[in-house]
Amino acid sequence: MSAQDIVIRGAGVAGLVTATVLAEAGARVTLLEAGPAIGSGASWKAGGMLAPWCEAESAPAEVTADSLDSIVWWADHVPGVARNGSLVVAPARDVADIARFARRTTMHEQIGAEQIAALEPDLAGRFGRALFFAREGHVNPRDALAALRTRIEALGGVVHTHVPVAEALSARGQDWTIDCTGIDARRALADLRGVRGEMLLLRCPDVALHRPVRMLHPRIPIYIVPRADHVFMVGATMIESETARGMTVRSMTELLNAAYALHPAFAEAEILETGVGLRPSFADNVPRVRRDGRVIHVNGMYRHGFLLSPARAREVAGIVQAGGLR
Ligand SMILES: Cc1cc2nc3c(=O)[nH]c(=O)nc-3n(C[C@H](O)[C@H](O)[C@H](O)COP(=O)(O)OP(=O)(O)OC[C@H]3O[C@@H](n4cnc5c(N)ncnc54)[C@H](O)[C@@H]3O)c2cc1C
Repeated sequence: MSAQDIVIRGAGVAGLVTATVLAEAGARVTLLEAGPAIGSGASWKAGGMLAPWCEAESAPAEVTADSLDSIVWWADHVPGVARNGSLVVAPARDVADIARFARRTTMHEQIGAEQIAALEPDLAGRFGRALFFAREGHVNPRDALAALRTRIEALGGVVHTHVPVAEALSARGQDWTIDCTGIDARRALADLRGVRGEMLLLRCPDVALHRPVRMLHPRIPIYIVPRADHVFMVGATMIESETARGMTVRSMTELLNAAYALHPAFAEAEILETGVGLRPSFADNVPRVRRDGRVIHVNGMYRHGFLLSPARAREVAGIVQAGGLR
């Protein structure tokens, strides 16, 4: 790619990954973030699961197909990408849900109590059956976003935070503008909607997990993603609402009940944080790249921002490369 000047709006995962891919291809990138810091939107609340096969339970096949090499991309770009797989369990009364999940997904192994205990000693004796997706992984989203910023700056890119929205929207003179403003792009993308997701961060020194564990439930399936120092991200609600107000009592109760059902030691966990993010989503819940002249939108990341940003960023690089200078 010849050295093109590219302005990217929005330093969530879509903006940071796209900026990284374009800077690596030789573009001069300027990343403008309206919030006080990178990751001021949904990306800060994410679990960071890189789970192409588990997501197939509810996502169309193209989401899995486009994200098969996502873990490799992340492992090449940020430290600490865990590649220990994911585990899917269900309370005894909902064990039929495991068979349903298995029918809708691939690349898993059905395992019993002994193998569960070998993979996750703290879950020994708690579940009789599980699905193990050995090739999946996860990343700490906040660390990953910071690492991408460092990479972009090392490649000569510039990252500005606190940029007034009007200034970001009126930036001129560049060869391309890439809009990665998440749910705030509704003005330009009429079919974009927000899907509310609530999450918790807990610290629980009495529990150790080595991989994300999804717990199936007919009403509120939840997952727990382990982070360093016995911190766990518990997520997430999926509510058709664009209300960004704080977490509701109902959601808090359901997330905490599920954590407690996974392991009773979570009863003594310290609640470090509650959070709400609006997942930017198109009608079919598939992330898309859309071109409008010299503006390219990368949006609708739904629940796949970490999973699919590398593939969508490569798509952007292809458009920029083919489109040339103004
Ligand atoms: C609770 C929860 C858990 C999740 N877990 C996962 C997971 O495990 N794996 C996964 O892949 N995905 C997950 N997701 C989904 C993922 O978080 C989203 O798909 C992703 O964060 C969307 O990224 P984005 O960059 O498009 O938007 P955002 O992260 O919202 O970023 C948009 C950025 O643009 C900025 N901005 C807005 N307007 C302007 C402007 N005019 N100029 C400049 N900047 C502007 C905002 O401040 C913001 O920082 C989860 C989401 C939630 C809510």
